[in-house]
Amino acid sequence: MAVPPEIIVAKNGILAAIGNLPIDAAADLLQDLLGELRPADPAACTGVTAVWCPVHGDCACPYPQVALQDPDCPLHAPDSAHAGGPE
Ligand SMILES: [Zn+2]
Ligand SMILES: [Zn+2]
Repeated sequence: MAVPPEIIVAKNGILAAIGNLPIDAAADLLQDLLGELRPADPAACTGVTAVWCPVHGDCACPYPQVALQDPDCPLHAPDSAHAGGPE
């Protein structure tokens, strides 16, 4: 896979910025960067009947097992994009 030039420039910038840090501090910084990237994974949605989703949060339906369409629920509101709903 070819790496775009702007990514190489950015990578060199990061290396220059953290190159003088102790290796453990540099590793911590890179771990933090990874942690910020991971939650953005678009494949992270749980199923339509889930009561919790890493993208949309906790279910707010009063009785999640029977009424999965509370209008204020981030997972189950009719216009929610959770689990393949409208964008
Ligand atoms: Zn819900
Ligand atoms: Zn979701």
